[in-house]
Formats: sequence, structure tokens, C-alpha cells
Amino acid sequence: MSKFWKPGSERPRATLVDDEEGGVLFFSTPSSEYGRSTLERQKQRLPVYKYRDAILYLVENNPTTIIVGETGSGKTTQIPQYLKEAGWAEGDRVIACTQPRRLSVQSVAARVAEEMGVKLGDEVGYTIRFEDQTNPGTTKIKFLTDGVLLREMMDDPLLTNYSVIMVDEAHERSISTDMLLGLLKKIQRRRPELRLIISSATIEAKSMSNFFQIRKKNRRQEVKDDPGSLKPPAILSVEGKGFPVEIYYLEEPASDYLQSAVSTVLSINDEEPAGDILVFLTGQDDIEAAVQLLADGARDIRGHSSGLLVLPLYSGLPRADQDLVFAPTPKGKRKVIISTNIAETSLTLEGVVYVVDCGFSKQRFYNPISDIESLVVAPISKASARQRTGRAGRVRPGKCFRLYTEEYFVKELPSEGIPEMQRSNLVSCVIQLKALGIDNILGFDWLASPPPEAMVRALEVLYSLGILDEDAKLTSPTGFQVAEIPLEPMIAKMILSADAFGCSEEIITVAAVLSVQSIWVNIRGTQKELDEVKLWFAAAEGDHVSFLNVYKGFLNSGKSSQWCYKNFINYHAMKKVVDVREQLSRLIKRLGIVLKSCERDTQTLRKAVLAGFFAHASCLEEYSQNGMYKTIRSSQEVYIHPSSVLFRVNPKWVIYHSLVSTDKHYMRNVIAIDPSWLTEAAPHFYQLRMPNPALF
Ligand code: ADP
Ligand code: MG
Repeated sequence: MSKFWKPGSERPRATLVDDEEGGVLFFSTPSSEYGRSTLERQKQRLPVYKYRDAILYLVENNPTTIIVGETGSGKTTQIPQYLKEAGWAEGDRVIACTQPRRLSVQSVAARVAEEMGVKLGDEVGYTIRFEDQTNPGTTKIKFLTDGVLLREMMDDPLLTNYSVIMVDEAHERSISTDMLLGLLKKIQRRRPELRLIISSATIEAKSMSNFFQIRKKNRRQEVKDDPGSLKPPAILSVEGKGFPVEIYYLEEPASDYLQSAVSTVLSINDEEPAGDILVFLTGQDDIEAAVQLLADGARDIRGHSSGLLVLPLYSGLPRADQDLVFAPTPKGKRKVIISTNIAETSLTLEGVVYVVDCGFSKQRFYNPISDIESLVVAPISKASARQRTGRAGRVRPGKCFRLYTEEYFVKELPSEGIPEMQRSNLVSCVIQLKALGIDNILGFDWLASPPPEAMVRALEVLYSLGILDEDAKLTSPTGFQVAEIPLEPMIAKMILSADAFGCSEEIITVAAVLSVQSIWVNIRGTQKELDEVKLWFAAAEGDHVSFLNVYKGFLNSGKSSQWCYKNFINYHAMKKVVDVREQLSRLIKRLGIVLKSCERDTQTLRKAVLAGFFAHASCLEEYSQNGMYKTIRSSQEVYIHPSSVLFRVNPKWVIYHSLVSTDKHYMRNVIAIDPSWLTEAAPHFYQLRMPNPALF
């Protein structure tokens, strides 16, 4: 086992600063006897149960109620049921509960339907992008992503269907949650009967409360409203019985957190009494890698199965695999769940006694100067680390192994994370607000103001895409159509442009593939086979064209799972692609676009892609030995991602879909282009941005 040190015992080094937690955390969690009691008894044992009447009273008497309670106390699954029992869903009214993540929407909806003994999709339903499991008229409790609720506002600006809207996981401060809170505050002024519940695991309840009391008059002037019109929100804190969690730190920093996580799990299994293990890693790739390593490692040691049941958990995981995570641990087994930060607060896993925290998560970062937004593996905040630790104390006292030193925790981790709003590209956010009729975006009532540079960049890009006009209003029809399509604006623009190019059939396939995580199955140790298989589908023009080959192969196979298995293609992802494509085809017909095929004219297809993505162009450096590209827009060093069919092919000019950053900035999903197409498609953009005559 890597060497861990526990605060309170003799210190490995003399210089460490005290952990403000004193090494032991007490969490407000119930003593549950999972697995044994009936659902009803389980429900009554949850900490929120004691507050049932108080919650209902506060909601009845206050426009806004803020509820703070530890993860697992029953906020998400119970409060909507209490509201329904109290009559908030009578008549044709609906109770809404939002989540920042799709996976948690599906999971909590399924759980609540089970508790209520109803079929999912009837009385209890959910809606996520491209998937609607509700039955209008019948559905009383609806779980949905905050993004979907924002979209619903476009059709029904006052959200008149809903009697109560519970904005859950508000501490996550996702970009959509922040937008939603600003907009809901506006709606409340027009619909005083609407009830809001803001719930979270940890919240600066005070600042949230202030936000709902202050009415923004104009950009500079904030005024306390006259009493009565904006009543201060009620705040309720749910408390329960807690179990202590002991924290262990590494004595020396880990050089490879993945390896370190795997060896820590194996030693817990060897040395610690029964209890499930929850491991926090950053994303699908390293989670799958760890699952594989653990499967190998567990066998290596004894030559037979170690009793470990290793399960991944990340968004995009098929339903059947999600269910395994929540199923009770079989007798004699120890469950090891390897998760992204979705298990930090959004989902409660019963039976976890040990937590292994790698100290990182995948976060979005946007640099408005270089105009680069990338997903970066970055250190978590102290608040996150505490949440992760708390996951070990649900059933009995637990242990948390932090794969970093205490000094690192104290000195390097920021105390709170930065709201997503302040580290994102704001293009989608601006379009949505514009579509909702909010013209003065800088003057919008933000919970935390977005950086003005990011706002200016967003306006610039939207203008260059023809989505906003000179007065920063949505153009007609393009701007309004883009706002209707629930995809990134660049993809939406690409779809709309395909009409003129006569390749909408192909482009919606490409758009559908880009909207799922990855269509390839990537298992550690099979990279070579995967690369060989990819060659069959690979098109010299790049990934988007290769996607069409895969899609065609999938259809020709009769959508066979066998075929996918043979070709290292993710069957569930392909089924999703077919489904999303179907919905997109209906959507664009509604927008008046006729489906048309370019019959494999890949130049036309690439031009249509470029019509949306011209801003993502880069050029191979002249004498580059290692495939270094520079983005045209901001001269950033970037490389083709190893998963691309153009990896090592390195055509001179390319367009990429997105960037991921690990050791370098990698371009994901790349096609080769001719540079003359850039000036042809976006002369205004390239003349404005790139006065480098040597290149053209
Ligand atoms: P909170 O929102 O306060 O974090 P939840 O309402 O999500 O809490 O969870 C309350 C309890 O319900 C959990 O402690 C867990 O026991 C149970 N629970 C929630 N979701 C599931 C699920 N999918 N399967 C089994 N139990 C669940
Ligand atoms: Mg919850």
C-alpha cells in the first residue's frame, strides 16, 4: 500500500500545517439498515423525514425556501413526494426537480417511481436532452436537467405548468443552474404563487438568500425591495446523526494517481474489514482503465477472484450498468465503485465505508483571450474533498484515503470551486438568454457575473456565425433556428448550413455522433486491435467522414450488437446515435429543412462542417517533427488527439470539434480542409482576426 499518514498519529514530517478539520469529520447521516427494511421504513429513517411538516409549512408560506442538508439525507427523493402528498400536484399542476447531470435525473426518477410503486414515465417521469420519459396530464413529479428546464422556458416563459420548482444541487453552480436562478427570480415577480425550493449539500445559504432579496434595478444600482414584494427566503437546515470518517493522507505525492488508486483499493481489500469502496477519478477514460487494472491486479495477486465487484460510474453509462451500482452488494463480495464526481453529492451510494479520493476532477476552463475552452483535469476544492470524504460515513464510521499529502490539501487546494459561469465559453448561454428576450445580458441579474471578456467573445463569435446581428439581436431565421436546436450553436449552425450544401442527411448523422461521448469502446490493453479496426472505417478526410462509415456499417448489420462487439464499437452509443438522429431529423423538418443526401461528396460535407466550425481551424507548423499545430485564431499550440483517425496523418489544415487538455491541448474529432474554404465561408471573421497575408 502507498504510505498513508493519519492526522492525530505521529507525523511523518514536522512541517505540516494543521488540517482545519482536525482529521475527523462528523457527518449528519442516518443510521440506515440498508437492504433489510421496507422502502417505507427506509423513507422514515431519512433525516428529512423529521422535517416533513416544517418543509411543507415553509413552502406554503414563502415564495422561496432554501434547504441545506448532507448528501443522502433525502432531499432529492423525498421532498418532491412530500409536496405531492400535500397537494401541490393537484389539478394539472406539476412538481419539477432539476439536476445538473443527466445520469442523476434518470437515477433519482427511477428511485422515486420505485418508492411510490408507479411505473417510471407515468406519475413520476423525467426529461433529459433527447429523452422524454413523461406523460403529459399524468406526470405529477418531473425530474429534469436544469438545461432542459431552460429550454422549456422558450415555449412557456412563465413555466406555467409547474406549481413548485426545486432547483437541486445548487451548490454545484452549473452554468444552467445560475441562469435558471436568475430567470426564476424574474418569473416569481409575475407569478407570485410559484414556489421555489433551492436545495444543496453545502451552500452559502446567506449569499443565495441575499440574491433573492435584492431586486436589480439597473446595472449599477442594487436596491433592497420594499418588504412584502420580495420576501426573504426561508432557510432550513436538515440535520441527522453522523458517523465520523478518519482521513488518511499520502506521505509522499503520488506520481500516478491511477496506479495509486488501484493499489490503495487492493490494500483496503486486504487489510480492512467488510464495506464497499468508492473511488473518485476524473472521467470515463481513467475510470475504465482503473476497472481493467483492478480486474487484472486482483487476479494477479492470488490467481483467483478477490471477491471484488468492480463497477464504473459516469454519465453516459448504460442503464443496466447504472442499476448494478445501486443494487445491494452480493454476500461475500466487496463492491468497488469507480466514479466521476457524480457520486460526490448527486447520487447516494449505500454501503460505502471507504473512500479513495484522487484529488482531481474534470473541469471546464475557458480562456477568453485565446478563445479556447477545454476540459481539464484539475485539482478539486477543499469543499469537494470534504464532500467526497463524507461519502464514507453513511452506514458506520468510515475511512477516507486522500491520494495527496496533507500539505497539498492545506496549501494548494482552493477552498471553494469557481462557478462554471466564470470559466466557460458563454456562447450557448447568450443565445438562450437572447431567445428568452433578455437583451441586456451584461445587466442580467447574475448570481455571479460572468467575465466581460468572455461575454464580448461570445457576442463576437455569434455575430460571425450570423446568429446575432449588429444590434446583438437574434437574426431571423438563422438565430432563432439555432436557438431551437438543443445542441451547441456551432453544431446547430453546421446543421442549418447543410441545407444549402444539400447534405443534411449526412450532417445530422455527424451531429448525432458528436452528441454522444464516444462511439469506440476503449479497453486498456486492446489499443492495437482498436487502431486496426478503426482503419477499416477511417476516411482520409477525417473523423466526421469516418463516423458516416461506422453509421452505415451499423445500419447494414441490422443494428447488431454482435457487429459492434466485433468492431470495438459501443453498441449503446450507436443506439443513442440512431435515436438522436431520428429526433434531429424531425426537428429540422419542423424548421423547414428538407433532408437531402450529398451521396458521399465529402468535400461538400466538410464545407458544411466548416460553416459551423470555421473558428476552430488550425495549421500544422512548418517544420514540426511532433505534429504540432497552431490555431489560426490565437496561435495556440495544439495536437491531434490519439483517438482521431488523423492522428499521425497530420494534414496541413484542419478543423477540430473540441479541445481536451491533459499534458497538451488535443484536438478531438478532426477533418482536413482546404484553407481557401475558410475565407470563402467566413471572410469577415478571418479578415478581422487574422491579418497574416503570408498564410493566404
Ligand atoms: P439527498 O438528495 O439529500 O442527497 P437522496 O434523496 O438522493 O438524498 O437519497 C436519500 C436516500 O435514498 C439515500 O440515502 C439512499 O439510501 C436512497 N436512494 C437514493 N437513490 C437511490 C437509488 N437509486 N437506489 C437505492 N437507494 C437510493
Ligand atoms: Mg440529492
